[in-house]
Amino acid sequence: MKLKCGKCGTEVDEEDSYELGNEQVCEDCYFDSAMSQQTCDPVAQSSVEKFVETFGDVKPEELLEEQRKVYEFIKERGKVTSVEILQKFGMRQGELTQIFIVLRRFKLAKGAKIDGEIYCVPWDYGISEDHNEE
Ligand SMILES: [Zn+2]
Repeated sequence: MKLKCGKCGTEVDEEDSYELGNEQVCEDCYFDSAMSQQTCDPVAQSSVEKFVETFGDVKPEELLEEQRKVYEFIKERGKVTSVEILQKFGMRQGELTQIFIVLRRFKLAKGAKIDGEIYCVPWDYGISEDHNEE
């Protein structure tokens, strides 16, 4: 079943949608909003922007060490919750959010809702072509 993202209006499969307040939204809007709640660290945020600007199209081996470790952990496990990543690397949610934003931009990892839980998965996990806006 298809529904419309409550934020940007994109059609998404119901199982690919996320609950945000009382709206169902697409993955992009969900993570954008999760990201914008982490506004306490503008310096780190702008360094992510800078990183993206500087490196543009990046290969996994060109990632910063922390980013690569998280990416490899996700790849190795197939799917992990953010809590598992936080525990494994002893990082703060804000740090992980920024790493994850980078991984998503480079199409290395993404969020997926599996059995009602949000997981971080490799980008090519359960690909659904029609959900790609680019
Ligand atoms: Zn959306």
